[in-house]
Amino acid sequence: KPAYDRRFGLNSWNSGGKVPLGLKRKGLRIVVTGGAGFVGSHLVDRLIERGDSVIVVDNFFTGRKENVMHHFGNPRFELIRHDVVEPLLLEVDQIYHLACPASPVHYKFNPVKTIISFPTTIYLLTNQLVKRSWPTCCCGQLTEAVDNWSGGQHSLINWPGYRTVSLSVGQAVTSPRLLGLTRMHKTNVVGTLNMLGLAKRIGARFLLTSTSEVYGDPLQHPQVETYWGNVNPIGVRSCYDEGKRTAETLTMDYHRGAGVEVRIARIFNTYGPRMCIDDGRVVSNFVAQALRKEPMTVYGDGKQTRSFQYVSDLVEGLMRLMEGEHVGPFNLGNPGEFTMLELAKVVQETIDPAAKIEYRPNTEDDPHKRKPDITKAKDLLGWQPKVSLQKGLPLMVSDFRKRIFGDHKEEGA
Ligand code: NAD
Ligand code: UDP
Ligand code: UDP
Repeated sequence: KPAYDRRFGLNSWNSGGKVPLGLKRKGLRIVVTGGAGFVGSHLVDRLIERGDSVIVVDNFFTGRKENVMHHFGNPRFELIRHDVVEPLLLEVDQIYHLACPASPVHYKFNPVKTIISFPTTIYLLTNQLVKRSWPTCCCGQLTEAVDNWSGGQHSLINWPGYRTVSLSVGQAVTSPRLLGLTRMHKTNVVGTLNMLGLAKRIGARFLLTSTSEVYGDPLQHPQVETYWGNVNPIGVRSCYDEGKRTAETLTMDYHRGAGVEVRIARIFNTYGPRMCIDDGRVVSNFVAQALRKEPMTVYGDGKQTRSFQYVSDLVEGLMRLMEGEHVGPFNLGNPGEFTMLELAKVVQETIDPAAKIEYRPNTEDDPHKRKPDITKAKDLLGWQPKVSLQKGLPLMVSDFRKRIFGDHKEEGA
């Protein structure tokens, strides 16, 4: 066996074959930023299972301790509350950089209006939705506020490190929106810069989880990695799209300029258990709505398309990418393409054939279609998704059912 070279992580052990041997190896020290989130926590499960030591770095902005709680007490697991916008000193072999407020809820219409300013944090929600959504909402650090909110009118939100704010339900907050977006951008740009600085200093391999949103409203279909995209640089989604594009640029600059070993994944819409229930993404919205016997909200005419990938397929792809020889970028997504109306139909078939559909105006700059070309990942990583929407959705539904209704079964379910 060749000597293990820390600078190159597992690279020196790789056979160069289609199935990286590294997938089976054990005993690495790995940081997962955003590891308490949806995708991150599933990745952590796989890494721990493989025998690695995992440090999760998360500020619980959209992640939850519950997602990784089952590893507490394991000496190979560590959880650090930290915002990647601040520098971080650690010694590890690999960095999976997932930290990012990934849901578009901050800048798209959503019944739960989560408006955030920085460094003062203000959450403004409609009274009716507060009680229902917060206990299940991703903002773990805010669950305390739920109790305070039970009066229905006021709440004190106490988020460690932030100023405590008192507000009335429905109270207007002076233009916090822009500040919230700055925060998204900051995480993508400054956060990624810090993690690259860390990777450079310790010679760790760095994997960026970028997004299919870098293709914007694509003029090429399906999207190939060589396509440069069609992104509005000043639109409401730009903080995410352009933030990730900058993160990709930084990643390549550190690779070319400082010799950092990097990997870039462009992730297409992913769903599965532990997804945030009320974060406004379409699969979680439809599933939660159908379970609660509410109409599924279809934005626009519902003919826009997306490709939905089950989370275990994504995690497999991320690990293959990290252990493989290729920088990327690689599209990681399921090429099955669905209109939102077709998705609603699958949700009806899975949960409740009587579930209704309600049309809502669509949001600004919503991409009309999206579908990955995954030829590159197939050829170079030996990867392709295995779980169809029809197979994956029920796995997510049972998790949502438990989280929404507790251990009790929904009436009539
Ligand atoms: P998520 O919101 O569940 O997880 C993101 C995690 O990052 C959360 O735990 C959050 O608390 C943490 N975080 C956010 N800002 C942070 C900061 N400044 N410092 C430390 N931690 C911070 O989202 P996810 O769906 O698991 O997404 C994970 C990654 O994959 C993101 O980078 C996202 O952009 C990317 N991605 C996801 C999808 C998808 O469909 N799920 C699609 C494309 C790209
Ligand atoms: N950084 C970090 N941890 C480290 C090394 C660097 O968080 O172990 C941060 C550092 O604070 C800086 C960023 O990463 O803001 C970029 O670091 P780099 O050394 O590339 O740039 P420089 O500090 O020279 O500007
Ligand atoms: N969408 C919808 N109803 C919802 C939420 C989203 O019809 O309740 C649509 C949205 O307009 C978009 C698609 O579903 O066309 C995917 O939205 P999502 O926010 O999940 O992901 P993204 O736009 O980032 O791909």
